Amino acid sequence: METVKDRLKEKGYKLTPQRRATLDTIIENKGKHLSTEEIYDIVKEKCPEIGLATVYRTLQLLDELDIISKINLDDGCSRYELNDDDDNHQHHHLICTKCGAIIEVGVDLLDELESEIERNYNFTISDHKVKFFGHCSKCNKSCS
Ligand SMILES: [Zn+2]
Ligand SMILES: [Zn+2]
Ligand SMILES: [Zn+2]
Repeated sequence: METVKDRLKEKGYKLTPQRRATLDTIIENKGKHLSTEEIYDIVKEKCPEIGLATVYRTLQLLDELDIISKINLDDGCSRYELNDDDDNHQHHHLICTKCGAIIEVGVDLLDELESEIERNYNFTISDHKVKFFGHCSKCNKSCS
């Protein structure tokens, strides 16, 4: 929380109660990939006076400051999650096209591919967003 406060301050922003409630909601729901509307519904319980526009702007601000990331899981809404440790790349997401389950893959596994790309294209990779589509273990079971 201290680093978040510092980062906001650096850019001239304050950690207002609304911003804090929005961030707390994301921290408390780590791994759930909440959408803007879902975050708003939870924040509203803590801050009844907050508006959807404020939550929306707060999410954009936290994204700009690299505290959270917007993820697009191809279900038509913007979802957010807390960033992993500073110099880590984003974890991969497995998306079940049958039941919509989202599974996180914590290991990068792309080191070889990344160094090959960096070599061949003279490109420095800072991050990536990897999505795999398919059927989760539950759905695999029910079709066999
Ligand atoms: Zn990587
Ligand atoms: Zn599934
Ligand atoms: Zn995730």
